[in-house]
Amino acid sequence: MFEAKGRPSNNPLIVHLDDGGHWSRAAAELPLVANALLDAFCPGPLTVVLPKLSDISDLVTAGLDTVGVRVPDHPIAREILRIAGVPVAAPSANRSGRPSGTTWQSVAEDLDGRIDAIFTADSSSIGIESTVVDCSGPNPVVLRPGAITLEQLQQIAPKTEDFGTGERHRVALSGKQLNSPGILHPHYQPSAEVIIVEVLPTELSIDISTASAFCGIECGAAVDAFAMIKVFASLEDYAAGFYEFLREVDRRSFTKVFVQAAPNEGIGRALRDRQRRAAGG
Ligand code: AMP
Ligand code: MG
Repeated sequence: MFEAKGRPSNNPLIVHLDDGGHWSRAAAELPLVANALLDAFCPGPLTVVLPKLSDISDLVTAGLDTVGVRVPDHPIAREILRIAGVPVAAPSANRSGRPSGTTWQSVAEDLDGRIDAIFTADSSSIGIESTVVDCSGPNPVVLRPGAITLEQLQQIAPKTEDFGTGERHRVALSGKQLNSPGILHPHYQPSAEVIIVEVLPTELSIDISTASAFCGIECGAAVDAFAMIKVFASLEDYAAGFYEFLREVDRRSFTKVFVQAAPNEGIGRALRDRQRRAAGG
């Protein structure tokens, strides 16, 4: 997997189970709070970081003494996991650093010839990656925002903390070696330059060449100027379609993509995190 993706070996993989009740196949213990989170959100887009079972390879956890565990809710994924009967390490199916693949065609684009098989199915319904919550310390800490929001987590585990946004901010906050090294690597970046637009201009004040694309959830007056435009019907659609849009921008050889910043609420927080990283931090 590290070879196929070109993934840095210090970026740990998440292991997947068909059922939260099988946690002891991957983890040495299940803290009460992790149990409550699994009950509430699994199967689904939540990864809990737990003390690792010694059987789990150090290659998978990048030498950490914890392991990320997730129970996906896609029927094909769960059937594969059920038949496997062991935890299955599984990253997003993209070349490392690129926007994650959310369709099987995008997976083929990045990995055909580098992996043995591709299961074809509909595109991902959520699009951005799982929320990663470290449950190995005194309070749960969100290491990576995702579709399960901080507010949802706090309803179940009120002491859940946000690690903050921005890698440098996170490093500064923790003041020590990060416990999720993966968040430091460049991620989600298309070849095109990504420019985040916080406030849509009412009239065109920037020089937009014909080689520019735009995506967002509303289109201001300026938007007509772009050669490729995608306006999503909802914030959820925006999150689900964001990576595929970035990939399409590259396929069509646009050199710049203007991205309307997602609102800082619900899944918008996770989408903002990916947008910022797509723009190079
Ligand atoms: P990906 O496979 O691209 O979805 O990335 C997996 C994410 O989970 C990365 O951000 C990793 O840093 C994070 N992760 C996986 N295992 C652990 C762990 N044991 N502790 C902290 N973070 C983890
Ligand atoms: Mg990934």
